[in-house]
Amino acid sequence: IKGKAKKAAKAGAPVEKAAVLGAGIMGGGIAYQSAAKGTPIVMKDIADSALDLGLTTAAGLLTKQVERGRMNAKKMAGVLNNITPTLSYDSLKDVDVVVEAVVENPKVKGIVLAEVEGVTGDDAILASNTSTISIDLLAESVKRKDKFCGMHFFNPVHKMPLVEVIRGKETSDETVAAVVAYAAKMGKSPIVVNDCPGFYVNRVLFPYFAGFSHLVKEGADFTAVDKVMEKQFGWPMGPAYLLDVVGIDTADHCTGVMSAGFPTRMQKIDNDPVSILFGDDRYGQKNGKGFYDYG
Ligand code: NAD
Repeated sequence: IKGKAKKAAKAGAPVEKAAVLGAGIMGGGIAYQSAAKGTPIVMKDIADSALDLGLTTAAGLLTKQVERGRMNAKKMAGVLNNITPTLSYDSLKDVDVVVEAVVENPKVKGIVLAEVEGVTGDDAILASNTSTISIDLLAESVKRKDKFCGMHFFNPVHKMPLVEVIRGKETSDETVAAVVAYAAKMGKSPIVVNDCPGFYVNRVLFPYFAGFSHLVKEGADFTAVDKVMEKQFGWPMGPAYLLDVVGIDTADHCTGVMSAGFPTRMQKIDNDPVSILFGDDRYGQKNGKGFYDYG
């Protein structure tokens, strides 16, 4: 990390112990990354099966590292030991930061944030990994609004370097600095952004997807579009494949948020190919069928 973010990382209060709410795709990934980079983390969910899945995913990633000779079995055990799975809030009393990564539903997030604020210490920072919900809206559920911000990781967490640290209207500089420092400690590249629909990445990405949707509606072959972006333009993947990776359901939801937030720039597209796929239950790689079929 460079410039202002580097300065903020140095200024931020160190995070010695963290917690993540939700052990799903993102929560499990955040737990793994935090533990692997030396910050013990409590992983809280409401379902035992979710905790098992989160731990199994972390163990799988670690096993790969051992097999590749990048880590020994003792270190692997140490990392796993750094993750405390739990169904109760009891072990969250002394954490410095809580990253909320439960389902993308403002009501559920609001309840969970209020609950966790009630059990953590006065100095604890609460951060949400929401992809689309306004940080200022979520801040309405907490009392210590200066200690609340967004901390938006990308999927898969262990591979994607970027973390958007989203500053709400009332987020303090100290909170931003501490979260930037924590992201840096996790080996990530944090950027600080203001609260707006799409934050930074999705504000850039979704207009690109909209351009792609218009092309397809006008008769373009999506495989040809992908091929050009990948082979000739040199991007790691084209828009159709990327939409399948993101998840067609997630993309459809995010498109709605972007058009509501920027009605002129991101006009709703009638018969958007993404919405059509969503209506046909083609959610992308997560259920094996999206623009492409996955065996
Ligand atoms: P997921 O469905 O895989 O996991 C959500 C987890 O939250 C589940 O394990 C569920 O049991 C748990 N949960 C539900 N209610 C809870 C509660 N009250 N307390 C504790 N745990 C609870 O979802 P995900 O894909 O990991 O997404 C989580 C968050 O991260 C969402 O806000 C999403 O928008 C955001 N996000 C997702 C991605 C992605 O690509 N999947 C990327 C960036 C951000």
